[in-house]
Amino acid sequence: MDKKYSPATQCIHSGYDPKNGEPLALPIYQSTTYSYSDPEAIGKLFDLTAEGHMYSRISNPTVELVEKKIADLEGGIAALCTNSGQAASFLSVVNIASAGDHILVSSKIYGGTTNLFSVTLKRFGIDCTIFDQDISASELASLIQPNTKLIFGETIANPALSVLDIEKLATVAHEAGIPLIVDNTFATGVLCRPIEFGADIVVLSTSKYMDGHAVQLGGCVIDSGNFDWTQNDKFKGLCTPDNSYHGLIYTESFGKLAYITKMRVQLVRDLGVYPTAQAAFLLDLGIQTLDVRLKRHCENALAVAKFLSESGHAKFVSYAGLEGDKYHELAKKYLPLGCGGVVSFCIKGGKEAAVKFMNSLSMFRNLVHVATVHSCVLHPASSTHRQLSDEMLAAAGIDGGLIRISVGIEDINDIIGDLKNALEKTFG
Ligand SMILES: *Cc1c(COP(=O)(O)O)cnc(C)c1O
Repeated sequence: MDKKYSPATQCIHSGYDPKNGEPLALPIYQSTTYSYSDPEAIGKLFDLTAEGHMYSRISNPTVELVEKKIADLEGGIAALCTNSGQAASFLSVVNIASAGDHILVSSKIYGGTTNLFSVTLKRFGIDCTIFDQDISASELASLIQPNTKLIFGETIANPALSVLDIEKLATVAHEAGIPLIVDNTFATGVLCRPIEFGADIVVLSTSKYMDGHAVQLGGCVIDSGNFDWTQNDKFKGLCTPDNSYHGLIYTESFGKLAYITKMRVQLVRDLGVYPTAQAAFLLDLGIQTLDVRLKRHCENALAVAKFLSESGHAKFVSYAGLEGDKYHELAKKYLPLGCGGVVSFCIKGGKEAAVKFMNSLSMFRNLVHVATVHSCVLHPASSTHRQLSDEMLAAAGIDGGLIRISVGIEDINDIIGDLKNALEKTFG
């Protein structure tokens, strides 16, 4: 689609463009396979010399239209959807890293991704160094080894809420001839387009704001098309023959689309992580209102962050939109429209006060999820970090009073009213 449209318009019009007399709503192509007139036509699909759908483990017309929409929204040239955010992160790395390789990963990223990279990928022989994303460019550059294949970070980290200096990381990566991959789940193309700041590949969990209603699990990998995979000999899988396609070379046959094409026709074919047409339909429905929702999430979250910091009951409040927040300057540059809907704060009185406070909320829901239209809270000390004693929590840097709030899009007076009431009940 014409890139001159702004995100709010792309959310609605990119991807599916109904022709004369066709349905307005995105059609669900509920089919595992596709019919062709002759075996020759199918042969060409297998040789990758003709475009078309072959089997819904690899591509599907409904999912493809949603991929086009997301690619536009992130400012990329192509995208590939997966059935979870985890699958997207996994594919984005193993598409260019193999046993014996090394990756550089920010310490602030989502815990699920840290497990995937530092435990599971390690079993596959891919080594990972975890770095503090606030170190200088030269310190970061010194961590790059000859076998390092990529740098990975998160625009707004879940749950740390730190903001990534994308340009700094991109510069270091490009000087070393490797790509920067950015997980843009908490910002989405509406709040930040990492590709405009030098990221080469973007990944998303579409289970969060993209969907926004907690009805489908999904992920997406978006290719900027900007990285030159032939500039050195680090990316052999893209630049040397693939025997599973008669010795085809991705960079020669697909040019700028080499990375995303290899991911689809090789990894997605083999691993079976493609979403269903039904899930893609639900995702598309969510994306249509993404711009409106996210702006309301940001507005509400900023009001909540201000209320909590002025309440006198918070040891600290983390939200990059707050003046004085450690990441406020970076947020001004990368997130001028707002910092998303997630706020975390540490209630005075530790774990006991936190539990009392959460029990006193009436509209807020207790969920493990975030980034839906509903306001919800999570208490790490009694959920994700439940097994740890107070001493162990302290050692892990988690105060028993830490509460993560995902601010929804309800009326702000009802949101603040519920928080205020619960604080009064907690502190008498
Ligand atoms: C939730 C999340 C993921 C994982 O996505 P799933 O869809 O749950 O597999 C990855 N990255 C971030 C930042 C997330 O919040």
